[in-house]
Amino acid sequence: MDQWVERCDRVLFQNYGRFPVTFVRGEGCRLWDDQGRAYLDLVAGIAVCNVGHCHPKVVKAIQDQASRLIHVSNLYHTKPMVELAERLVELSFAQRVFFCNSGAEANEAAIKLARKFSKDRGHPERFEVITMEGSFHGRTLATVTATAQEKYHHGFEPLVPGFRYVPFGDLEAVSRALDERTCAVLVEPIQGEGGVRCPAPGYLRGLRELCDAAGILLILDEVQTGMGRTGRLFAHQHDGMTPHVMTLAKGIAGGLPMGALLATEEVASSLTPGTHASTFGGNPVASAAALAVLSVLTEDGVLEAMGPVARRFREGIEEICRPYPQFVETRGVGWLVGMEFTGPCKPIVEACMRRGLLVNCTVDRVLRFVPPLVMGMAEVEEALEILREALEEVLGRDSRAPGKTDDIP
Ligand code: PLP
Repeated sequence: MDQWVERCDRVLFQNYGRFPVTFVRGEGCRLWDDQGRAYLDLVAGIAVCNVGHCHPKVVKAIQDQASRLIHVSNLYHTKPMVELAERLVELSFAQRVFFCNSGAEANEAAIKLARKFSKDRGHPERFEVITMEGSFHGRTLATVTATAQEKYHHGFEPLVPGFRYVPFGDLEAVSRALDERTCAVLVEPIQGEGGVRCPAPGYLRGLRELCDAAGILLILDEVQTGMGRTGRLFAHQHDGMTPHVMTLAKGIAGGLPMGALLATEEVASSLTPGTHASTFGGNPVASAAALAVLSVLTEDGVLEAMGPVARRFREGIEEICRPYPQFVETRGVGWLVGMEFTGPCKPIVEACMRRGLLVNCTVDRVLRFVPPLVMGMAEVEEALEILREALEEVLGRDSRAPGKTDDIP
C-alpha cells in the first residue's frame, strides 16, 4: 500500500472513508497520483475546481498575491477583498458581502443573520428556520441541524433548537409550516448531497412569494449550485427570481478555502460591528484567487461553452445505462448531474477508479458528476467509454438475470 495512505491512517482522525490514492498534481480535468498514474476527474474536489485544476490565471493570482501580502485581519482593509465584493455585487442581486471560509460558515452566518434581522424588526419570537428534507447545509452544530437528514445528526444530540423540516419541492408544506416563530426559509436550488434532486420550475419563485408575504427571509444555499455549476453564475438565475440572502463556497476561490454570505442592503444592515466575524474571512490570497475564478467564468466563455458538453454527457450516460434494469434516471442541470440506481453504486465508483476515472456517489444510490466546467467533448467521450466498461463489469452480470434489480451487484 502507498506509504502516504499508511501514514495518513496513523495520524489523521479517521472521520473520512478515503480511497487508497495520494494525489500530487492536477491540471485542467486531470489529476496524477504519486505513482504517476493519470485520472480524469469528474469530482473536481466535489464541485470545487470549477475552472479546472491549477488554472494558470488562478495560479498566477495566488502567486502574485502571496508574494505581496498573505494576511492582515479584518481590523484593516485589503484591496483583493474589496474588489471581490464589488465584483460579486455587480454580478448578483446583493448589495453587501460577508466573507468566511467554508459553506458551513456561510450558512451559519446566514442563520444568525435571519434571527438578528427578525429581532431588529421587533420580532424576538421569530427564530425558527424552515429547511428541506434531504438537504445538506454543513457540519457545524447549527448547520448540521439545518441539514434535514438524520444520518448526520446521530451522536451529536441535543441539536440546536429552531429548525423545522418539510418535504423538498412542496410549497404547500412550507406554507403550512410557516408560523409566528419562523424567521427564514433555507433551501438549495438543487439538492446536491441529497442526490441531485431538482424541484419543479417555479418552486423558488413560490418560496420567495411565501417569504415576502410573511415578512421573513429566503436564504438560498448556493454553495454547490453557485459559481457557474448549473450554467448560470447562480442557479436561481434560471428561475428569474432573487433571494434576500445567498451563501457561496466550494468553487468560489478555485480550491482555496472561502465562503461568502451575500444579502440585500436592508438585510445586511443587521450585522453591525461586533455581531459577527471571521479571522481569515476575505483573506487576500483567497480573494485574489476568487477574482481570477470570476474572471475565467465570466470573461473566458466557460458558461457559454459548457452547455452542449454537459448535454452530450447526459445523453451518453442515458444511452449507456438504458439496458440495465438497475438504472433509474438521470437528473440535474448543467454540470451538476446525478444518475440514480436501484442499489448502492460504490462498486461502480471503484470500477471507474481502477480505469482512471474519478466519480462520486451520494446518498448511496446516486452517481454524481461534478467535473470542472471547462471539460471538453473529447474528455466527455473518454469518460463515457470508461463508464460503459465499468457498468458492464459491475452490472453486466446482474442485468442478464431478469428480475434481479434491487441489489448492486
Ligand atoms: N451547503 C451545501 C449545499 C453543500 O453542498 C455543502 C458541502 O457539500 C455545504 C453547504 C457545506 O460546505 P463546507 O463543506 O464548505 O462547509
